[in-house]
Amino acid sequence: MRIVHIASEFSPIAKAGGLGEVLVGLSRQLSLENEVDIIIPKYDFIPTSSLLFLNMEVPDFKCIEHGKSHANTMWSAQVEECRLHLLEARHPAGYFHRPNIYGYPDDTARFIYFCRAALEYLKLKGEPIDVLHLHEWHTALCAPLVKTALKELQIGSVLLTIHNLEYQGRCAPWDLDAIGLKGKDYLKPHLLQDDDPALPNTLNLLKGGIVFADAVNTVSPTYAREIIVPGRGFGLDKTLMKQKKKLSGILNGIDQKLWNPETDPLIKTHYSSNDSLVKIQLAKGQNRADLEKRFNIPANKQPWVGCVTRIVPQKGPELLEEAIHYTLSQGGVFTLLGSSPIPELQRHFEELKEKYINRPELVIECNYDEALAHKIYTSLDFVVIPSHFEPCGLAQLIAMRYGTIPIARATGGLKDTVFDCNDHTVPASKRNGFSFEKATSAGIIEALKRAFELQKNDPATFQSLLRRAIQSDFSWKKPAQQYMKLYQKIAGRESSSNTGGSSLGQVINFREMYKQET
Ligand code: ADP
Repeated sequence: MRIVHIASEFSPIAKAGGLGEVLVGLSRQLSLENEVDIIIPKYDFIPTSSLLFLNMEVPDFKCIEHGKSHANTMWSAQVEECRLHLLEARHPAGYFHRPNIYGYPDDTARFIYFCRAALEYLKLKGEPIDVLHLHEWHTALCAPLVKTALKELQIGSVLLTIHNLEYQGRCAPWDLDAIGLKGKDYLKPHLLQDDDPALPNTLNLLKGGIVFADAVNTVSPTYAREIIVPGRGFGLDKTLMKQKKKLSGILNGIDQKLWNPETDPLIKTHYSSNDSLVKIQLAKGQNRADLEKRFNIPANKQPWVGCVTRIVPQKGPELLEEAIHYTLSQGGVFTLLGSSPIPELQRHFEELKEKYINRPELVIECNYDEALAHKIYTSLDFVVIPSHFEPCGLAQLIAMRYGTIPIARATGGLKDTVFDCNDHTVPASKRNGFSFEKATSAGIIEALKRAFELQKNDPATFQSLLRRAIQSDFSWKKPAQQYMKLYQKIAGRESSSNTGGSSLGQVINFREMYKQET
């Protein structure tokens, strides 16, 4: 099968969060048996000198914006065993010649342009594609483009994956005029008009993807069910409900090469999931000593708790703070690695760091640091993930791979992957952590208390939890098979997009699958 992904991230060279990791993990797995190409913008910060077989594939092709023709170059390279195409937009606004992937006032214009230019490149190539796989609002506009203005492209079907419904890409109709569409024609409730009645003249790019794609999926079955509930779909629940038949949920995996305690060059002592628990804990202890030295953390403290996260309201920053206070009150160590795009939140955690400057058992690093993230995952006893909502979440999967037990709120993908040690609705052999329902101080503290007590008073049960967590299979093997099934289902079919007519079947219920398997 020939699959083309169009996305804004690809880890490790262009990563802002989980999206980049999904792109690399899924593409690497799919590439074993399929022709897979990935197109991303050529951001200025990508270290091109480190790219294998970097080649100027198409030196010059044009893309129209506001009636002017702009030059673009398509580069290709092999990255993480995947065929990556980097679109260099030689645009006077320097759309991708900036230090970050997102966060600019003209983000919608940047990615609208990228969508059109990426499709111009595919038109030029003229090769038939079985599935065009789009990700998030940044590339969702490709779906309406392919289904209306660029019908000549030989594309069997279009899949849109929603990694986080909170971000939707709103713009004005004339923003679409810029790339040669008639924006006003799309300003209709059944097309791209925003569902918010207060925004009658606004287009919603993610909605465009949902309406025009042949299939839509989110990154966990529970999240797919949550977002069609009124009030939980970030204003798009009605549209999603209408398109329910083409909506499904496929759980993410984690890339087994990027996250592997056996070979990870960023950690000091290696270990494998098959090692004895004594060896695993010894290795984790040595990695912890590395951090103790680096941050002057007193030795022999227990438990070690922490998290690696974007600091945004979604992630429950107020609950993280509760976790910090509670852990310190119990004589533990807390390490928080996180940065925030919201200045007030960034400042708040920097102030917290200042406030606790005399408590070396609290480490707060308010920046983005890939290497430190690996060292933290391996050092912790517990990772805390108190999200208010969580499409999938990778932190809990990565943590488990490194033998760190998750304490997570029961929502979205966290609910599909973290099974409480006292949850009698799942087989004992699947229970791998601690979960809590209520996003309140009492909710998280109750879970932390249970976790700390188990570690202290019942080492045998704690160790069996650790064994289960580290041996869980969160590779891309199963998810890639599920994507293949979805691709096969939609490939070559007539679009049912506008009516939401054809059924893609049931949302895959991971919990049910687990129950049946055992
Ligand atoms: P999201 O995509 O919503 O940010 P996920 O849990 O799906 O959350 O994925 C986040 C990924 O980004 C994880 O691999 C996590 O380790 C990483 N990450 C988040 N914040 C940081 C940071 N400050 N430094 C390094 N890695 C980070």
